Amino acid sequence: MKDRVFNFAAGPSMLADEVLDELYEEFYNYQNTGMAVMEMSHRGKDYLKIFEEAKQRLYRVMEIPEEYEVFFMHGGATGQFAAVALNLLKGDKADYILTGNFSKKAAMEAMKYGQVHIAYDGKDNGYRHIPKQEELSLDEDSKYVHLCSNNTIYGTEWKTYPDVKGKILVGDLSSDILSRKIDVSRFGLIYAGAQKNIGIAGISVVIIRKDLIETPMAITPDILSYELMAKHDSMLNTPPTYPIYVLGKVLKWIEESGGLEAIESRNREKAKILYDYLDMQSFYKPHAEKDSRSLMNVTFTTPNEDLDKRFVNEAAERGLVSLKGHRLVGGLRASIYNAMPKEAVKKLVEFMDGFAKENAL
Ligand SMILES: *Cc1c(COP(=O)(O)O)cnc(C)c1O
Repeated sequence: MKDRVFNFAAGPSMLADEVLDELYEEFYNYQNTGMAVMEMSHRGKDYLKIFEEAKQRLYRVMEIPEEYEVFFMHGGATGQFAAVALNLLKGDKADYILTGNFSKKAAMEAMKYGQVHIAYDGKDNGYRHIPKQEELSLDEDSKYVHLCSNNTIYGTEWKTYPDVKGKILVGDLSSDILSRKIDVSRFGLIYAGAQKNIGIAGISVVIIRKDLIETPMAITPDILSYELMAKHDSMLNTPPTYPIYVLGKVLKWIEESGGLEAIESRNREKAKILYDYLDMQSFYKPHAEKDSRSLMNVTFTTPNEDLDKRFVNEAAERGLVSLKGHRLVGGLRASIYNAMPKEAVKKLVEFMDGFAKENAL
């Protein structure tokens, strides 16, 4: 088998070796059941145990209060752009804070099912910036305020969440969920696709305060109804059984690594290595403003596009892959989610420094 590389992709992205080892170990014959997890009935007792354990681990690791319900749903984070509006907006008005591509997509989707008030738009500054409280213009009549916690494409992240004046805060945490400790009770609803930081594609996690679960718009597909998800404990139809199992393994790994506190401090160390380097040199130009920087996605450019390309290729030859930036921003992006080891970040910085010296203009 070819050696494994350090995969800096923004998503799907790396899983920890410990997680892959367990998946491999249990692949053909899960704990002497005589079958693979993906062959199991979702209503059978073996699978229900996996399902329940994954859910309980999520409550434990994130310290989710009892008055919140957890759903595992299909349709990715993009499915939730619609689900949030169908279940909560229902023709009324909501505030959307635009800090990047995904928050814009969420707003566009919500416009199909109600009125959207743009409380902030970072387009003019190239989405380099996370707004301060006084930069937000919240609408008095809005039902909730939607934000994207970490902007995967532009490499910015909310350090502290804004005061939404008693309104419901809704957060897309797809690319930073489980990367740090957060106070779930600040939110009415959190959603996240799993394939960035907490598992594999095919499942999105929804954490919703129970009193917000009500009858959605009449046109809502059953598969996007929070009311039905609650009624059927995420098993309205066949849930994404294998991705839920993998999520459980990732959560187990987080618990065994010391929980979110340990994960967060490791993530801070990793990001600091990269940003400290970026700040002490002049070859690379970081994209995000300093106090808006993401701990998960570090975006930067070389002096020109040819060098960006060469950077990507030469890094790949050293086992540092998928460093190309998103097509909307160009340049380079190092995604350093939970599973990315600190050694890999150090190796990347070493490579960056050598490349800068060789190609200084
Ligand atoms: C990747 C991503 C999405 C889209 O996720 P899908 O699961 O592909 O629909 C939405 N929001 C954020 C912040 C993301 O990083």
